[in-house]
Amino acid sequence: MIPFCDINSSHSDLKPELDDAFHRVLSSGNLIMGEELGAFEAEFAEYCGAKHCIGVGNGLDALALTLRAKGIGPGDEVIVPSQTFIATWLAVSMVGAVPVPVEIDRNLYTLDSHRIKEKLTKKTAAIIPVHLYGLPAEMDQINRIAIDAGLFVLEDAAQAHGARYNGVRSGKLGDAAAFSFYPTKNLGALGDGGAVVTDDDGLANELRQLRNYGSKKKYVHDTAGVNSRLDELQAAFLRIKLPHLDAWNSNRRHLAQRYTDGLTDVPGVKVPVTPKGSEHVFHLYVIQSSYRDELAAYLKSKGITVLTHYPIAPHMQSAYAGLQYPSNSLPIAEQAANDSLSLPLWPQMNTTEVDSVVTCIKEFMQLHS
Ligand SMILES: *Cc1c(COP(=O)(O)O)cnc(C)c1O
Repeated sequence: MIPFCDINSSHSDLKPELDDAFHRVLSSGNLIMGEELGAFEAEFAEYCGAKHCIGVGNGLDALALTLRAKGIGPGDEVIVPSQTFIATWLAVSMVGAVPVPVEIDRNLYTLDSHRIKEKLTKKTAAIIPVHLYGLPAEMDQINRIAIDAGLFVLEDAAQAHGARYNGVRSGKLGDAAAFSFYPTKNLGALGDGGAVVTDDDGLANELRQLRNYGSKKKYVHDTAGVNSRLDELQAAFLRIKLPHLDAWNSNRRHLAQRYTDGLTDVPGVKVPVTPKGSEHVFHLYVIQSSYRDELAAYLKSKGITVLTHYPIAPHMQSAYAGLQYPSNSLPIAEQAANDSLSLPLWPQMNTTEVDSVVTCIKEFMQLHS
């Protein structure tokens, strides 16, 4: 049996430290907006090489509150990738703006920068590039377009903690970046969590206020904010995990390379690519195959858990029926939804397990192609 991901293995390695963190917060009696949050924010900002980190309740809020802080709302359009986790689109909807999909690159799974300009209108206010599966989007091209058109660039870095693009970490690749600390992300809390990272002092202040009922001073409310905070326990747990992030990402990369070495020449399988200058952090190792569903069933029959990220492109979801994108209107996203298969991967996975998955895929493909 090979699970898809085993978050228990990193937690059992760190159990004494996580227990200490729990007891530290418990005995402090301070559970919201205290020292742990401040310390984690400083540590994560430094890790990203950025000036500010603002902890919030989850990754979706990190995206939506940032758009709101920039005054993006009804009447505005925001460029989003045609294939991503639905939260990227939902954040735009949450502030009352319209998500405008641009096709992904079929090999990189990130925004196809060549197709952005044709989607810009007078209403376009921002671009949200997603570093999907852990690979940074083509930020040089995207930032150039944004500067020319005066657009705000918000990285959706929910799958890309620690990823680098030309040596620069995610979090420092746009005007601001949204992270999620959902438990299975590369840096995960023991519950929900998220953060915004930015160099912009004004934006950081605005976000600190918005996440806390629109208040800077207790019981004084300058705007109608929300309650979306990273709590002390989660911040304390994240502080334990952050020093391990680079080693975990490096393990992910080595295991991914082993998958790629094993699968590159297998007919019927397309392996992920990493462009020169980028450092992928393999939140997910995703292959493409036109035999996806049969292959998934075969692997399951062999005790290997595989998943699909994501089986339905956002424009094909009922939630977005109102935007009226018919099927085939975004064919690359739809093909990715049909052909993508995520293979088991977690930092403590061993190479024998990777090899078994590769062997089973080869067995299946010999029968089918
Ligand atoms: C996980 C994720 C989010 C949302 O994060 P939550 O913490 O689950 O709200 C947003 N975008 C992408 C690409 C994600 O993978």
